[in-house]
Amino acid sequence: MKDTERTTRAQRGLDLANRDEGRIWWIAAHTWEVPSCMGRGTYIVRTDRGTCDCPDFERHGEREQCKHICAVEIVSARRRQRRRKARAA
Ligand SMILES: [Zn+2]
Repeated sequence: MKDTERTTRAQRGLDLANRDEGRIWWIAAHTWEVPSCMGRGTYIVRTDRGTCDCPDFERHGEREQCKHICAVEIVSARRRQRRRKARAA
């Protein structure tokens, strides 16, 4: 895999997190719901297994994360940080 490809996917994950953070939901233990970029339906990301049920992950998931997993990591890190801040205040 090329480095540029990795950067692009991480960048798209960040874009997704920024744009759709309000639609990325923690729904069960280690399980997140992420809106699809096509604007229809959602994908399920499992953070314990590092899997996603989108077509991109099906094709490339063994080698790299898809942008949904990237987005979940970003959103969950942000929410953890916010909770920490709220407790400290
Ligand atoms: Zn995905």
